[in-house]
Amino acid sequence: MNKINTTIIAIDGTAASGKGTLAKRIATHFNYAHLDTGKLYRGLAYLVMRTNTDNNDIDKIISLIPDLHNLDFNNPELISTSVSKTASIISALPPIRQQLLKYQKDFPVISLQKGFAGVVVDGRDIGSIIFPDADIKFFVDADVETRARRRYNELINKENNIDYKSVLSDITQRDYADKTRKVAPLIICDDAIVIDTTNTDIEAMVENAINNINKLL
Ligand code: C5P
Repeated sequence: MNKINTTIIAIDGTAASGKGTLAKRIATHFNYAHLDTGKLYRGLAYLVMRTNTDNNDIDKIISLIPDLHNLDFNNPELISTSVSKTASIISALPPIRQQLLKYQKDFPVISLQKGFAGVVVDGRDIGSIIFPDADIKFFVDADVETRARRRYNELINKENNIDYKSVLSDITQRDYADKTRKVAPLIICDDAIVIDTTNTDIEAMVENAINNINKLL
């Protein structure tokens, strides 16, 4: 058990690996609160684009953070390729990560106050930076072509001029940027359970993860 006296499940992984689906399913199964931290970066990227803010204008980007409270995080534009790219760029800026840290770190306490016995948080630095003392850590990955195919199928009805090759290139570049940035790079924590979803069907992946959680808690 971590210091907050609640259960924290950290899920990190590469783009379109299935970590979000896994996080949602675990949260539903255990009735835990779920935080998709990618949506914070995507939401901010969307605001940056909507206000024509320069990707390097740190002060202006920080000034947009309070507007996240009024943003519809279900807006389909948040999963677009252009928002993904901008999210990856601004997420490499240390002051931006610093500003978003508190909200993420407070999430288990706030969720506990709301009556949730645990939380599932997914992203890139959850096990390494946000909750290094999480009760359970998962790292989700899959072959890059499988991930690109999944994202392509997700985007095909939402974006014009979408083609598989550009999705593959976007995911490859984003993985590279997320893994090699100086601050909070995507890493596999020593104590993480690694799940490869390349050939695994979703039900088997979820069942396996739930079994692991039941064994460890
Ligand atoms: O998880 P998702 O693909 O929605 O995240 C979008 C982008 O936000 C990632 O490519 C990454 O650059 C950034 N991100 C991050 N740290 C997190 C979650 C997302 O840097 N904890």
